[in-house]
Amino acid sequence: MGSTGSIGTQALDVISENPESFVVEVLTAYNNADLLIQQALQHRPNVVVIGNENKYKAVNEALSTQDIKVYAGAKALDQVVEMDTVDLVLASMVGFAGLSSTVHSIKAGKQVALANKETLVVAGDYITKLAREKGVNIYPVDSEHSAIFQCMVGEFHNKIERIILTASGGPFRGRSREELKGVSRAEALNHPNWDMGAKITIDSATLMNKGLEVIEAKWLFNLDHPQIDVVIHPQSIIHSMVEFEDGSIKAQLGLPDMRIPIQFALSYPNRLKSNFPRFSFADYPSLDFEQPDMKTFRNLALAYEALKRGGNTPCILNAANEIAVEAFLKEEINFLRIPEVIETCLSRVSFIAKPGLEDYYNTDRETRVRAKEIIA
Ligand code: MG
Repeated sequence: MGSTGSIGTQALDVISENPESFVVEVLTAYNNADLLIQQALQHRPNVVVIGNENKYKAVNEALSTQDIKVYAGAKALDQVVEMDTVDLVLASMVGFAGLSSTVHSIKAGKQVALANKETLVVAGDYITKLAREKGVNIYPVDSEHSAIFQCMVGEFHNKIERIILTASGGPFRGRSREELKGVSRAEALNHPNWDMGAKITIDSATLMNKGLEVIEAKWLFNLDHPQIDVVIHPQSIIHSMVEFEDGSIKAQLGLPDMRIPIQFALSYPNRLKSNFPRFSFADYPSLDFEQPDMKTFRNLALAYEALKRGGNTPCILNAANEIAVEAFLKEEINFLRIPEVIETCLSRVSFIAKPGLEDYYNTDRETRVRAKEIIA
């Protein structure tokens, strides 16, 4: 799901390198018809779905001589994951939009490799309960959560005392609020270590990405918020750590390369041989660590706050953030307005202590309207 995005294209690289291990059944994209067509011709899935119905004609015509079915629209995205021939769904759509097809995947008993962290941020309670009921495993693709998962292999019977999520700190690490006021879209999109999509790159610059990952970790590993720490590690070599009850800490290391966590989520419990560049200690004589500055980068504090409050609060946080990031990318608001928009939404949208799936949809809708009013 989301094959033309950053995770999707790298997943197809992994699959191309391992043709004996994987077969692509379905490819979906929202808007990028040209790349979807190109991927379909190369990977020969049975089905492709283009989310944006206006692009159906172009995709259908381009693939008309191929033995590939073409569908369009949101309903089709939910239906294709249920196909008998699908074993595992790679959920790599961006934002709240990824929730529905993930719910359908789990309901149909498909294993899920989850790159769409927003799904767990918004509806972690609902999703993890449903997955347990259906006997579905959720394999993390997010590099930090993959690192924790890799540290956990062979230790699932042992209790986690705490986890330590590492964060690069993004392009603005060390800057003051004053210095952040005038930062441009281009500066925010220039991440020092990771090459990612626009939304997550802005989230990394504001530290919201780490905040969303704290909430994601709570649900993936069944933790309470005091068990989840964040440490800034500018080199992005340690991808995250687990501390066990005996005080021992395990870390997973490597060059920042999303193909490793993607591949591990697809191949677990096996590791497949790869030709990805190898880490050299000689190139990194020192690894640095510092505490996150949550006063300057308010979003991380807001995410912890949302996690503590629970209910539909993380859903409000996520929707407000999606709208604020979109507005920043369109250069409608400045960088420091992003946490302000989120904070105002958190105080204005009504709290629901025990939300169901329908409540999440309503909260998401209401928050988007509110956030747009605040920005206008
Ligand atoms: Mg991550």
